[in-house]
Amino acid sequence: MTTASNLPHLWLPYSQMQTAPMPVEAAATSGSTITLADGRTLIDGIASWWTACHGYNHPHIRQALIQQAEAMPHVMFGGMVHQPALTLAQRLSDRLPGDLERVFFTDSGSVAMEVAAKMAIQYQLNQGREGRHKLLSFRGGYHGDTLAMMAVCDPEEGMHRLFGDALPQQIIADLPTTPETLAALEALLSKRGHEIAAIITEPLVQGAGGMLFHEPETLCHLRRLCDDHDILLVIDEIFTGFGRTGTFFACEQAGITPDIVALSKALTGGTLPLAATIARKHVFEAFLSDDPLHALMHGPTFMANPLACAVANASLDLFDQEPRLEQVRAISAQMTTELEACRSLPGVRDVRVLGAIGVVELDTLDDPEALKRAFIEKGVWVRPFRRIVYLTPAFTITPDELSTLTSSIHQVLKDHL
Ligand code: PLP
Repeated sequence: MTTASNLPHLWLPYSQMQTAPMPVEAAATSGSTITLADGRTLIDGIASWWTACHGYNHPHIRQALIQQAEAMPHVMFGGMVHQPALTLAQRLSDRLPGDLERVFFTDSGSVAMEVAAKMAIQYQLNQGREGRHKLLSFRGGYHGDTLAMMAVCDPEEGMHRLFGDALPQQIIADLPTTPETLAALEALLSKRGHEIAAIITEPLVQGAGGMLFHEPETLCHLRRLCDDHDILLVIDEIFTGFGRTGTFFACEQAGITPDIVALSKALTGGTLPLAATIARKHVFEAFLSDDPLHALMHGPTFMANPLACAVANASLDLFDQEPRLEQVRAISAQMTTELEACRSLPGVRDVRVLGAIGVVELDTLDDPEALKRAFIEKGVWVRPFRRIVYLTPAFTITPDELSTLTSSIHQVLKDHL
């Protein structure tokens, strides 16, 4: 029996259902743990795809959700606004650097990035700059699974490479992390800068591309190059936003203000789907005109869902009231010490930590599923991918829970490499 036939009505994500083992069934979540339907409990090392920064079922978030459900679970956002969205937009713009002040809500990271791309291209068109419709992104990058975003993901290594020519052709370069790659990008922009609407990048860490870290200085180079060539800088903070790299937003570490920022994942503390694309004043102003066609023609049915906005406001309360960034620093220090033991294992290429992201990179990883099963047997939820075994725990994880995760990684790698 294959997973495809065992689960006759489900189509699972990122899964070859002919060969993939059956997924485990989750029944309940609390703090940093997931209880399975068979009664086993797992310590979650990845906070549900990097979202559950306060742990699961935080009482403050639950309370906000219940209150909003009683008042108004949903209402359309066309020709109508509501307090949870007004408050959230104000609070996000207060938290973001510079004049990033116009918030457009959507419901997933991919769509937030689609909107960012659309805003950037239309920003140029609204000003009569017709030839500037290309997007430039970087090898190792990942920005989502929609057609336009697949076209700006890593074309060679990325999971979307099968699509090839079916995607709009964009410009993919090396991140300018060395003098050589910086010079190459400068040369490319001198030639093709006039075709480009926006440069798109993840700040400090390319997550799904393999947890690849780069220095804040790289973002400073990109800011300067965008200014020199009248290109918008779009920063995808969908993974990094809300403390994950040690500052509230990763771009703060470079001291730059992007023209457009995309947020999702931990925006609601991992409780409900919500995303936001936030533009600077000058970007928004390029859409103001007597011409109705100059407006942003986008409007997902469930945009700014009041439940999701209320929960996001509650999540921001927790960042104000509880010492999240201190917790990130403590997690960072503990992972740096404890994951170091993996460095001397045969088959381990690198161990690195940035904020609450801990990575053990292997030379090769032929059977990630076998490792995943071994982790489950140890009572932890760790999901290796590519050549990477990584931790992105909730910021509220206890030191003991974190130690269980790091020692499980050491043990499982020792047994399997
Ligand atoms: N951008 C980045 C940096 C991401 O890490 C992800 C998801 O992992 C996305 C975009 C896509 O977000 P979503 O899965 O919510 O569409």
